[in-house]
Amino acid sequence: MRIDPALQVRLLDLSTCRTRLDGIAARRESLPERAEWTRLQAEAARSRTDSARARLAAKDLGMDLRRLEADLEKMRRREADDRRVLGAVGDARTRRDIEHDLRSTARRREALEARIAEVRDHRDALQMHAGAAGGDVDDRLAAARRALDAADAALVAEREELTAEAARLRAGVEPGLLARYDALEEEVGIAVARLAGRQCRSCFMDLDPATLREFAALDVDEVAVCPECLCWLVRPETIEAGRR
Ligand SMILES: [Zn+2]
Repeated sequence: MRIDPALQVRLLDLSTCRTRLDGIAARRESLPERAEWTRLQAEAARSRTDSARARLAAKDLGMDLRRLEADLEKMRRREADDRRVLGAVGDARTRRDIEHDLRSTARRREALEARIAEVRDHRDALQMHAGAAGGDVDDRLAAARRALDAADAALVAEREELTAEAARLRAGVEPGLLARYDALEEEVGIAVARLAGRQCRSCFMDLDPATLREFAALDVDEVAVCPECLCWLVRPETIEAGRR
């Protein structure tokens, strides 16, 4: 197979672009800022669920609280009634009964007051948790996103440059050859690589002396194929002829 050396060099540059684009994609994926952002997204989702649960529980406790406060109000009215009756009755036995009722109501009222204070504290704590937890993780999530965007910006700029360069290189290759190049890339990953000394720079294997002797006998426009990975190898003499 013969391909003009300048075109071989162009395809080599195109293949290098592709390798560098793959490298950038991998580096963008493995940014520690991306891992942190992903982790915080999960945390934010958990926190939103927690907040929603806490809000719901606080609402339930608020309903309990109103019921308990209504009970308390009833007890206070009962105590007031007892005291009024006590002021008006002279009969000793009736007074004893009322005094007994007053003491027992007061005990139950005190217990109820303690219970109400407890429920109110619990509800307030839940309301605070529902409000504060969400805000904090949202702030950290926004900061993590900014850090990720900053770390990513240089890689994105580099990717755009390389994408434009690849498009420019492709524009200078006739469609039939470009289709063969794309098919080869699809098949072997790296379609075109340099021969550096004895080494194929696609699969990094050292080629055997017989193969190297065959390559040395080829014209500069003849394409060498790596026997290990099947990529097209561009030899130094072809590069020299192609860049002239
Ligand atoms: Zn190879």
